[in-house]
Amino acid sequence: MASICVFCGARPGLDPAYEGAATALGTWLAQAGHQLVYGAGDVGLMGHVARACQEAGGDTFGVIPTHLLEMEVGKTDLSRFVVTETMHERKKVMFTNSNAIVVLPGGAGSLDEFFEVLTWRQLGLHAKPLYLLNIQDYWGPLLALVDHVIAQGFANHSLREMITVCADLEELKACLTEDLAD
Ligand code: AMP
Repeated sequence: MASICVFCGARPGLDPAYEGAATALGTWLAQAGHQLVYGAGDVGLMGHVARACQEAGGDTFGVIPTHLLEMEVGKTDLSRFVVTETMHERKKVMFTNSNAIVVLPGGAGSLDEFFEVLTWRQLGLHAKPLYLLNIQDYWGPLLALVDHVIAQGFANHSLREMITVCADLEELKACLTEDLAD
């Protein structure tokens, strides 16, 4: 069993495909016997991943800071529910308890989380796989920005190789299964 950290929007986004992907990911994590590690909210895509995982009998580990308990509707019925004092602590607990990181569509919070894990990897602080679930090419503009950063000499080409882009859940399942077997 692996622990998979999922970063995603605290809102559902406009395209129903985002919600569909979040639900399908939650269900698959449970079926594959992986633990879901996430921000413990019951809102937006976060809520969809967690509820789907729970409904399929999966193991869920949520981490939320005190000040977001109300705003993000802390989901207290998870297998493990941890409350931290700060956002930084939340991210640290999520990261250290995960074997791999998956990023679904999301907003500034998801971007912050994605770039933190990416920059830590760039600095050689870890080697955990990092996947962008690129539903409806939501992350296309982000990938263009990363390419631009590299083209303008602010990062090595290796930065792009640290991001595994998966067009859909089927691709993600294949990549995760292969990487976790290594
Ligand atoms: P968002 O993608 O903006 O909907 O946020 C997704 C998750 O990231 C939510 O649980 C937010 O609380 C969290 N988040 C927002 N801003 C930050 C931040 N600066 N650092 C860490 N997590 C954040």
